[in-house]
Amino acid sequence: MKIGKTQIVIVGGGAAGLELAAKLGRRYGRKHHDIILIDRNRTHIWKPLLHEVATGSLDANMDEVGYRSHCHRWGYRYFYGTLSSIDRAARQVHLAPVNDDTGREVVAAHTIRYDYLVLAYGSVTNDFGTPGVAANCTFLDSHKQADRFRDRLLDQCLRVSREMTANPASNARVRIAIVGGGATGVELAAELFNAADALGFYGLEVFDGSRLEVTLIEAGPRILPALPERLAAAAHHELEALGVRVLTDTQIIASTAEGMVTRGGEVIAADLQVWAAGVKAAPIAGGLDGLELARSGQVVVRPSLQSTKDERVFAIGDCAFCVLAGQERPVPPRAQAAHQMADVVFRNLGRLMTGNATVPFVYKDHGSLVSLSRFSTVGSLMGNLVGGKLAVEGRLARFLYMSLYRMHLIAIHGWIKGAALIVVGHVNRIVRPRLKLH
Ligand SMILES: Cc1cc2nc3c(=O)[nH]c(=O)nc-3n(C[C@H](O)[C@H](O)[C@H](O)COP(=O)(O)OP(=O)(O)OC[C@H]3O[C@@H](n4cnc5c(N)ncnc54)[C@H](O)[C@@H]3O)c2cc1C
Repeated sequence: MKIGKTQIVIVGGGAAGLELAAKLGRRYGRKHHDIILIDRNRTHIWKPLLHEVATGSLDANMDEVGYRSHCHRWGYRYFYGTLSSIDRAARQVHLAPVNDDTGREVVAAHTIRYDYLVLAYGSVTNDFGTPGVAANCTFLDSHKQADRFRDRLLDQCLRVSREMTANPASNARVRIAIVGGGATGVELAAELFNAADALGFYGLEVFDGSRLEVTLIEAGPRILPALPERLAAAAHHELEALGVRVLTDTQIIASTAEGMVTRGGEVIAADLQVWAAGVKAAPIAGGLDGLELARSGQVVVRPSLQSTKDERVFAIGDCAFCVLAGQERPVPPRAQAAHQMADVVFRNLGRLMTGNATVPFVYKDHGSLVSLSRFSTVGSLMGNLVGGKLAVEGRLARFLYMSLYRMHLIAIHGWIKGAALIVVGHVNRIVRPRLKLH
């Protein structure tokens, strides 16, 4: 059957949106379709790498994908802009103007028509309105935020190092408080010690992990609630062995310039504070024209990943609220869910355009893996992969953890370029400095 020219607009070129744009572009190209990707950034970085960017263990500039060159290669169009609202009756998305850092307009506000719209604009950290958090804490939602954290970390390490050089008996420390004992908080805490040890190579000879005072604060009874208890306990033990103070059952009620305040009244003094607890949908200034939203702001979708209120609007990845049949909780905001949702929407768009019924999304939880930097990796494999639930640690877990990113590279670049980039990544790890120091 001949497919008519259809305009498919994807908002958000992250783990979900970029994979979908590449697939659609590759499958349909520009001849019969117009596939448009909108993102508020010029480049894509895979979000699970951000804690490594924040500590300098990874140079994001090496791993970024420029949308403009990517779209040229894969047959879709890219628009630089921020979604500000949608008009469902007119089937249009409205983009806010883009200004440069002096306030001069780069791209005027404009409108793009769609036949099908896929919302894939991700999530941001949820501070649950905790006083002082927005002003005093760093979030790890974007490349910019991760860079800012790294600059502050390096400045603080330099201050402490200078103080120690001037006064070798000094007890100066870099104090870092991290809220959230999920994967992001745990991975960041471990990565900080990797970075601190590496700083010794690059001129801060007096500095090492013993000069870090890292506190990881979790409101629940244990860290890593998504992992089996034994693995979470192993990670907890590993963090404490590195020198991390792990506080569970500890709720933060405020953040001040001095540090975090617990419900029990303790002030955890910190030079750097990170909030890595909870997610909510990224805000859209002008709203979503009556689409059904969950309390977290995510778009409620049917099993086909079409929004409940509009069959022409899909939502995938972290901005989708998808509770599958027989499940009580929504599909978790994870890269593997984003990847699987992109696959199903790719199929469903094809089916709709050829007059076929949509297929339902089935989430295959392949498990969770948490990297404690070079020190350890723990996780569990689930479901079809192992016919149940299997705890993994060490080299196998590390290999599987790295595989997630490799799969993303292959999904957005294809097998040949994806494989080449994996090799280049290995070479870079050998020839480039262990830390990004600028
Ligand atoms: C530090 C960290 C570590 C993580 N580690 C893991 C892990 O180990 N394993 C795992 O499975 N998951 C992990 N996650 C979660 C995972 O990154 C997300 O689930 C995944 O990236 C979601 O994909 P997405 O496409 O929905 O959103 P994103 O990847 O966040 O992409 C959203 C895109 O939308 C764009 N955008 C946002 N708002 C607008 C707008 N208004 N207009 C235009 N564009 C917009 C953004 O610029 C971005 O490019 C981690 C997350 C973080 C922050």
